[in-house]
Amino acid sequence: MTVRLRAHHLLCMLTFVGEGYTPAFTANYVSIARRLSSGEEIEMVSGPDDICAPLLAGTTAHCHNASVIARDEAAAEAIGRLLKMKISDGTRIIPDKTLLKRLRRNFALGTIRKACGACEWSELCGHVAERGFKDVLVAAR
Ligand code: SF4
Repeated sequence: MTVRLRAHHLLCMLTFVGEGYTPAFTANYVSIARRLSSGEEIEMVSGPDDICAPLLAGTTAHCHNASVIARDEAAAEAIGRLLKMKISDGTRIIPDKTLLKRLRRNFALGTIRKACGACEWSELCGHVAERGFKDVLVAAR
């Protein structure tokens, strides 16, 4: 199996501490965090992914919004530049310790956070980074 992620969720997975939009969304995300922590491969997708899934039935799902698609593009560009690889539909990435450490270091430095600009969670994610990513749920073993 692979974990299907849209590009900006490569950033969100770095700071996830169990907060989310709804109880179902959070429960699903916790389960995905476990899979990523165990090293399950990520498959990049465009549009809604495994993290978005519980929100899609609702009438207020923002997952198809242009602003969220722009967020994916910004994240793919920044992370691709960092990792010197093209992040697009079908790209596969192993979330190992080295990758998570490198992404978190750059997230904390602000070099890959353009996508976070207008995100409502930006303050929380900033605090998580400032605290050295303490209590995050995606942690390579
Ligand atoms: S600020 Fe928003 S887009 Fe950025 S990592 Fe946090 S939740 Fe994801």
